[in-house]
Amino acid sequence: MNRYILHIDLDAFFVSVEQALAPGLRGKPVVVGGQPDRRGVVASASYDARVFGIRAGMPLTQAYRLCPQAIFLQGSFPAYRDASEKFMAILADFSPCLEPAGLDEAYLDVTGCEAYGTPHQLALRIKERVKKELKLIASVGVAGCKVAAKIASDLGKPDGLVEVPSGHEREFLAPLPVASLPGVGKKTEQVLRALGIKTIGQLAALPPETIKSRLGAAGMMIHHYANGVDNRDLEPPGEAKSISRETTFAEDTLDRTFLQAILRYLCERVGAELRQENKHTKTITLKLRYADFETITRRISSTEATDADEVIFAGAVKLLDHALARNRKLVRLIGVGVSNLVGYGRQLHLLDSSPQRLAHLDKAIDRIRNKYGFTSIQTGRTLLLKDIFASRDDDYILETPSLSR
Ligand SMILES: [Mg+2]
Repeated sequence: MNRYILHIDLDAFFVSVEQALAPGLRGKPVVVGGQPDRRGVVASASYDARVFGIRAGMPLTQAYRLCPQAIFLQGSFPAYRDASEKFMAILADFSPCLEPAGLDEAYLDVTGCEAYGTPHQLALRIKERVKKELKLIASVGVAGCKVAAKIASDLGKPDGLVEVPSGHEREFLAPLPVASLPGVGKKTEQVLRALGIKTIGQLAALPPETIKSRLGAAGMMIHHYANGVDNRDLEPPGEAKSISRETTFAEDTLDRTFLQAILRYLCERVGAELRQENKHTKTITLKLRYADFETITRRISSTEATDADEVIFAGAVKLLDHALARNRKLVRLIGVGVSNLVGYGRQLHLLDSSPQRLAHLDKAIDRIRNKYGFTSIQTGRTLLLKDIFASRDDDYILETPSLSR
């Protein structure tokens, strides 16, 4: 029996959610990521902004130079998460075999769903529902395996529907550049280029021994992909594996009080997310990027798990103090992450405050924030940031969120 995998990917997701909420933004160059006088990067750009050369990951200042008339938005993570949940719910109506691959994309195995329509018809119906119910545009790839479906959805953007005929994955992939193959990063591309390999077809034709000697086991995997061989099953939505938040400063800084205030804010963000996921963490990671772009991560682990803001912050600030004592370079970016997540745990007893008291406090704060916005209530440490919060006209994200599953 032929397998039929759909890869569904929402076009310009963050920006499109903003445009769905404020139709006045449609048809205009819109950038989500922050104000152009700030130092973050573009998180998402509308197709009307991409015409000017603006791309995700580009510094906001550069985006502004390319298109000063673009509308720059801070972005609203809760709105994106809400849209994402509705998107996944629509997909789940079509097949129970669903693998989310981020907020705005997912694989759907529709093998055996012939009674409901051909894969092409199902793809059209998904696109229709997403458009009608969410006012978003989905691009869909249809193929016999995940890797070809993913590349097909990308190829059709925006508003695409690309179907790879059953059994023709190899021919479909052959003319495409090797870099479009998942798993081929900058380094692998360089190694392949040195071998004179530019297209997926050239990679597929290489003797497996050559690939193995140059790129090891990972090379064998991309060699299989290049040949249209990908037997990976869909993985059902997993539980959160890590949660992190980071922010780039408007100006490089070594101000310890300010760094601690931002760190506290990021820890509260991470803690709130952790409690929403009903998880506890055993590992806290601090990330610092210095003015010269050197980036370090330091982590601290415990045998006992926690979901308390206070405990996460205590660990993170210890790492920060340690890092600042060893290195006096100006800091450009700070981030905090939690990993090694467990379903439940006993609270850490590092602090005098009783764990129950902390849990009650966090829950009460979560309730207020869910109702009135994250910055509606502040803890002592983050009072320093009140001017930053006040300068925003919404519960904007100050940081770059990430939740990996
Ligand atoms: Mg997308």
